[in-house]
Amino acid sequence: MGRDKPGHDSDRWFDMTATRSQHSDDDPGRANDRALGMDRPIARRDFLNGVAIAAGSIAGGMLPGVVTEGLAKEAAARARPNFYPPRLTGLRGSHPGSFELAHKLRDGDLPLQSPGAVETYDLVIVGGGISGLSAAYFYRQRKPSARILVLDNHDDFGGHAKRNEFELNGRMQLMNGGTLEIDSPRPYSAVAAGLLRKLGVDPVRLDAACAKRDFYGSLGLGRGIFFDRETFGSDKLVVGVNVKPWAELLADAPLTPAVRADIERLYEARIDYMPGLSSKQKKERLARMSYRDFLVNVAKVDPGVVPVFKARTHGEWGVGIDAVGALEVWPLGYPGFQGLDLEPGAAPHMGFTASGLAATGGSYKFHFPDGNASIARLLVRSLVPRSIPGGSAEDIVTATADYQKLDRPGASVRIRLSSIAVRVFNVGKPGSARTAEVVYSRNGALAAARGKAVVLACWNMMIPFLCPELPARQKDALHYLVKTPLVYTSVAIRNWRPFKALGVHEVYAPGSYHSSIRLTQTVDIGRYVSVRSPDDPILVRMVRTPCKPGLDEREQHRVGRAELLDTSFEVFERNIRDQLARTLGPGGFDPATDIIAITVNRWPHGYAYEYNPLFDPDWNEHEQPHVIGRAPFGRITIANSDSGAGAYTDSAIDQAHRAIEEVMTMET
Ligand SMILES: Cc1cc2nc3c(=O)[nH]c(=O)nc-3n(C[C@H](O)[C@H](O)[C@H](O)COP(=O)(O)OP(=O)(O)OC[C@H]3O[C@@H](n4cnc5c(N)ncnc54)[C@H](O)[C@@H]3O)c2cc1C
Repeated sequence: MGRDKPGHDSDRWFDMTATRSQHSDDDPGRANDRALGMDRPIARRDFLNGVAIAAGSIAGGMLPGVVTEGLAKEAAARARPNFYPPRLTGLRGSHPGSFELAHKLRDGDLPLQSPGAVETYDLVIVGGGISGLSAAYFYRQRKPSARILVLDNHDDFGGHAKRNEFELNGRMQLMNGGTLEIDSPRPYSAVAAGLLRKLGVDPVRLDAACAKRDFYGSLGLGRGIFFDRETFGSDKLVVGVNVKPWAELLADAPLTPAVRADIERLYEARIDYMPGLSSKQKKERLARMSYRDFLVNVAKVDPGVVPVFKARTHGEWGVGIDAVGALEVWPLGYPGFQGLDLEPGAAPHMGFTASGLAATGGSYKFHFPDGNASIARLLVRSLVPRSIPGGSAEDIVTATADYQKLDRPGASVRIRLSSIAVRVFNVGKPGSARTAEVVYSRNGALAAARGKAVVLACWNMMIPFLCPELPARQKDALHYLVKTPLVYTSVAIRNWRPFKALGVHEVYAPGSYHSSIRLTQTVDIGRYVSVRSPDDPILVRMVRTPCKPGLDEREQHRVGRAELLDTSFEVFERNIRDQLARTLGPGGFDPATDIIAITVNRWPHGYAYEYNPLFDPDWNEHEQPHVIGRAPFGRITIANSDSGAGAYTDSAIDQAHRAIEEVMTMET
């Protein structure tokens, strides 16, 4: 499935991007720093570190006292000639300077003054992710001459659908900084599929022509599991998942014989652990127990099996197997269910992900080299003429965007980056208002834009702070939607001979800081040709999902987010170097010399919240928080994947379409 998670690929075993949270206190030991290469210049340890600027110098006067160091440095970086955000390294995703004012607003610590002159548009959109850009697209379809302003707090457009671009030995190499691929647990709707078609994206054709899924396999590279000494007693990489029999694979793993035997039983035996119950009754029970409880209490495995599986759900849910229902993971091919003879199809109480997948098999898939950033870029190309050259879904991949063209006076669509909305209101009473206004901050100075309508395609849980006049019930509902924190780290390495020597291209690491390591996917599209020689530099993806086992899902996300916002780039870097050294060192990897660049894509507010049957009530649709939360309010309407309770691109597009249909109704 998408989101760089396991899914229904039959050849996948573990979620290779799952991560663990509580390992190491984020510091494997400073004594090793030199050996790890912490003193080596890489591109770029932290793009902010080298920027010397006094915070006061950009204050602009309207928000005195609230210009943070991050904001000041971000503005200084942006002012440099040739500023090209996809190439920035260091801490990206929610980068320093993008979120501090939002947190001040949340804390009631943001003094707002009159923004002065107000620009006017037909439509103002807050949020330049796929949902906001799609909303602009759909509105222009209905009103081709409309003037639209899109505001986003990041220095790049696309929201989660961000592009990491590197030049390694003179060759462009790309990775997704967030949204990985076209893929959903349900088929794309006519609306979402129609938009892709209009943008020239035919996922089925592109996948057949461009994805080279068997490339690493053709070199004899497979999947492995890394057992770390802190969790399992000694460091050990085992290789050959899904190829070797389990007994053989785990023979040298630092696990007791009982644990090894139970893992083998889970995968290879067909046992009905719930005899005497019908398929329906089994599903009812599985819906209300965690996968951890299924393993321990129903399949009765040795407790030592739990640490091996614990992070397997991280990539999909952002929490471990303690907080994900057993029935949720059944359609994804987790072991232990094969003897239960569960009937296919959706079941009551299943969450968004699994129920859709069990019922339909999910959507088509396609991975652009920069993930769904290519979709965001196609939308921008269509909205802002000449901002990105070319004319096809193939040539978008290597095209360079001209960021100077995104916000030109007189253009019918303007995309204004590094601009965070801090106040949104109807001009007049909600029932009779003819316009709505957005007050936003850019470089610490306030400005305002008014539209016949405003679409809030931003993170829904922030809307109550932007728009405190909303009814209390709606604000409570919006607050309920706690997003999942996660980190996609991109590491450029000098060559991948160590992977070749060890015979591995993907490693699941249930006890490590990042719980997965994988070589970039091989995709050839347009003029973009993926790396083939192990002697060449390549990009490596590592994923970390901070959480706190034992709490309910939303609380785990809150704890994980706090941890993420509190973690410096230096801590990430040290853990990255340590983990790569311990995993790949036996294959010849030297962290001091082999790492060229690191980008940590940090998403404290990542996936949209999808309901969890272990913790959330069995609501009817009209009682669900995302439905209550997205109700239009005067001239203000709400989009974003949050408002579909589905952390997928099709949800982002569908919700944009609904929001624009609501705008059309307002305007009639
Ligand atoms: C790491 C990661 C991997 C993912 N992988 C997949 C995948 O493989 N497939 C898939 O379908 N989905 C994936 N997703 C889900 C992804 O969220 C959606 O697919 C989609 O990109 C969401 O688009 P959106 O526009 O709804 O939200 P976002 O992309 O979050 O865009 C909203 C934008 O609004 C901005 N904003 C918020 N508040 C303000 C404000 N006050 N002022 C101005 N701007 C504001 C935000 O900063 C953001 O830029 C992934 C998500 C993450 C985080």
